[in-house]
Amino acid sequence: MAGTILTHPTSRTVTELADGRRLIYYDRGGAAPRNAVDRRPLDPQVPGSEVRLDPVTGDRVTIAAHRQARTYQPPAEECPLCPSRDGRLSEIPAEDYQVAVFENRFPSLAGPPADPAREAGGLWTAGPGAGRCEVVCFTADHDASFADLTPERARLVLDAWTDRTAELSALPGVEQVYCFENRGAEIGVTLAHPHGQIYAFPFTTPRTARTAARAAEHRAATGRNLFEDLLAAERAHGGRTVLTGEHWTAFVPFAARWPYEVHLYPHRRVPDLTALDEPQRAEFPRLYLDLLRRFDRLFGAGRTPYISAWHQAPAGQRGGLALHLELFTIRRSADKLKYLAGVESGMDAFVNDVTPEDAARRLREVAP
Ligand SMILES: [Zn+2]
Repeated sequence: MAGTILTHPTSRTVTELADGRRLIYYDRGGAAPRNAVDRRPLDPQVPGSEVRLDPVTGDRVTIAAHRQARTYQPPAEECPLCPSRDGRLSEIPAEDYQVAVFENRFPSLAGPPADPAREAGGLWTAGPGAGRCEVVCFTADHDASFADLTPERARLVLDAWTDRTAELSALPGVEQVYCFENRGAEIGVTLAHPHGQIYAFPFTTPRTARTAARAAEHRAATGRNLFEDLLAAERAHGGRTVLTGEHWTAFVPFAARWPYEVHLYPHRRVPDLTALDEPQRAEFPRLYLDLLRRFDRLFGAGRTPYISAWHQAPAGQRGGLALHLELFTIRRSADKLKYLAGVESGMDAFVNDVTPEDAARRLREVAP
């Protein structure tokens, strides 16, 4: 399946780093050969993480102690995501690149699937932290951000996300592929270079499991799909719509948890990125870049910290769920951040200081 999802003019070149990790270059429009060799003396990492089942909540928690040693906010001249040039060797051996994806050197999840015998442990159930963690570099430009990309480059990133979803979904034991971006030191980003991450989980994430249960309840009660009803209702109401195109609509959800939160859905429901058609793919870059630029204009000068999260249907649950992107910021005003304190962290109960209708109005007003 790998590689078949890409359409001309996107090409991919699969290479290997010095410690055996895979690095893939994605290029559009005839790039230079991607055959640079990784000359760093790297020892293979032994991740050894564990996925434990919380017997009280039923949630799975990944324990990954080896990640404590990972690179933390290095100076720009030591950025591991910049290309290798001027004698400095990074994670990316090429002198330049368009989009590059590589296996994380400090993965939370890695390796083959769990041994079922080990999974069954009574109250204390645990298995190996199987799966894959990858890093997606959006551009070779250290000082850019996703919002600065051209629509063509944003499309190339979409192609890379799609290709990774297809390939990682096919790995044994992988249940859900999650593409996301953390942006800004306020979010806890450890590397300033514009990049996102991909987690291939060996389980269905707690939020997706709850969502799937709600969709099943809605189906039982109405005979219809929850997401199709929701999108139709938001489009008809319009009060929380931020922008709409021919194939996608972005709105602030009725019960938004974050001060500024936008959900972007394709009009034709699909389970994951691999199922988008060409008109949906072609329109996505313009709308997503528009949303990101609106986020950056919310609080005057400076870049707004955000989390951008692709929700994709896990394997075996492709029928009832809907691919969509959730974009939100923890900033609630120019000088205030929303922290997850006692109510949110202690009880998983959110309190939002901005009404979703006001948030939508503000986001409409700050059109780029
Ligand atoms: Zn960099």
